Amino acid sequence: MPDFYTPQLDPQHPARHLCRLETPFGARTVYDSVSYCNRCGSCQQACPTYLLTSQETFSPRGRNQLVRLAAEGKLNLTRNRRQAEETLNSCLLCGRCTQACAGKIPTAEHMLELRRTLRTQALPALLFKLLSWRGTRPTAFRRLVHTGLWLRRLGLLRFARGCGFTRLPGLSWLNHADDILPAFPPAAQRRALHQAFANTPAEPTLIYLPSLEAEFFLPQLALSVLQLASQKKHQTLLWPNTSSGLFEYVYGDLRQSRRWVRRLILRHASLHKGKLPVVTDSVDVYLFLRRAPQLFAAWPYWQNKAQAFADCVLFVTDLFPPKLSPAGASARVRLDCGALFSREGKPFEEARKILKTHFKKNFVECLYKDAGTPAFGYSFVRGNLGEKICMSAVRSIARTQTGTVFTLSGLAALELNFQLKRFYPQAKADHLARLNG
Ligand code: SF4
Ligand code: SF4
Repeated sequence: MPDFYTPQLDPQHPARHLCRLETPFGARTVYDSVSYCNRCGSCQQACPTYLLTSQETFSPRGRNQLVRLAAEGKLNLTRNRRQAEETLNSCLLCGRCTQACAGKIPTAEHMLELRRTLRTQALPALLFKLLSWRGTRPTAFRRLVHTGLWLRRLGLLRFARGCGFTRLPGLSWLNHADDILPAFPPAAQRRALHQAFANTPAEPTLIYLPSLEAEFFLPQLALSVLQLASQKKHQTLLWPNTSSGLFEYVYGDLRQSRRWVRRLILRHASLHKGKLPVVTDSVDVYLFLRRAPQLFAAWPYWQNKAQAFADCVLFVTDLFPPKLSPAGASARVRLDCGALFSREGKPFEEARKILKTHFKKNFVECLYKDAGTPAFGYSFVRGNLGEKICMSAVRSIARTQTGTVFTLSGLAALELNFQLKRFYPQAKADHLARLNG
């Protein structure tokens, strides 16, 4: 292992960790990275969990100190495990603190590194097991999701909720899943998507890696992405039911995450000399894959390959035509920047530009501190906090009398729509790709 690894945190298992963190100021160890936090507190007011709790342990500064003290051996993690897990798992990994911090300290990455040290199971065990099947047993996963959707359609989940079955320990996530998932997709959409999966163009010019929600719950989102691609005259090859490695990166084992990314790299390299662009509809997957070389810092061969692959990864905003015709009279719209690790950079700027061009003065510009939707399944980890954070977003939407909120991931749209239906039904949330119809 190179010097970048922080052996104080987990001496026995270096492969479970990132051996170096890529920061805007160069590569650092986790210890160096947390040490650069000078406790100035400029990030406190940007952190959703600190704003809700007003407690230092739920702030970026407190979280960084936790990692630093653990790395310096001044905090016994075994004895303080419960409090440490509370601090780690309550972090949204949203990267707002990094945006507010002059030193761009990647607090979310520090949290993941400490989670890996403690082997914390952030998601309910059964949900984690089922979702990890997408990578390990994709066929079984697909059948399971389809069966679950049909049983839900037949009312079995409602019945189970009525009987109190979902209140059993470890099953409460079923309630949240039932709340946020949309109605069974119309047959025409399912058929169209099925056909798109079956079509394999002889000379593909684009690969589409659909997110889990686009593939199984929001076929209209996947169809919108395909439509955007066809407007750009792309012959699109779909990679259905393919794990990007992000799920394992956030909730599971980093070694497994590397395995799935390596699999993607090899699959990509086998087509057209690894030159085809790969588009995704989830900003979380985009940000993760663009930083894939970070996973392989100890393996230069794979790092080079990961860099070549990362350079080919696009977000759906790259498929929009350069000029959109302005929308007619419409309600006000805004962008929800809820994402993992970061809220800055190309996809966010592009999305803002698209909405501004299309909606002109009806586009509501938001401050970076404005509440956003918790990303990538956070509400399954910390339902109570997730709901409060979503509610802050709903309040902000109501205050600005916004009619439509565009998100950069399907899951964020589902979460936000559920809360909007309950508390501000005048507004709705949709993925940005749906702007195209
Ligand atoms: S993370 Fe950055 S902004 Fe926050 S306390 Fe540390 S140095 Fe200051
Ligand atoms: S990543 Fe988000 S929730 Fe976590 S400390 Fe930073 S601002 Fe707070």
